[in-house]
Amino acid sequence: MPYYDFECLDCKKISTVKLSVKDIEEGKKVECKYCHSYNTQRYFQPIAVNTSSNSKEEFQGCGEHCKCFPNN
Ligand SMILES: [Zn+2]
Repeated sequence: MPYYDFECLDCKKISTVKLSVKDIEEGKKVECKYCHSYNTQRYFQPIAVNTSSNSKEEFQGCGEHCKCFPNN
C-alpha cells in the first residue's frame, strides 16, 4: 500500500501513514501520530516545478552542475 502524508491542523506536524487507495477515495480520517488528533488533512509535498524563469531562483534541485538543472 502507498504512503500518504497528512498534516495535523492542531500541531502542524506531518504524519506519514500507509493507506489503501480506497481509504483515500473515501476520505478516511487519519490520526495524528503526535497529538492523536483526527483534525488532519492530506498534505502534498511542495514540488519544485520550473514553470517560469522567475521560479528558477527557488529551484532547489541537484545544482547547476547537474544535467537536469534548467540551463537557460
Ligand atoms: Zn497533531
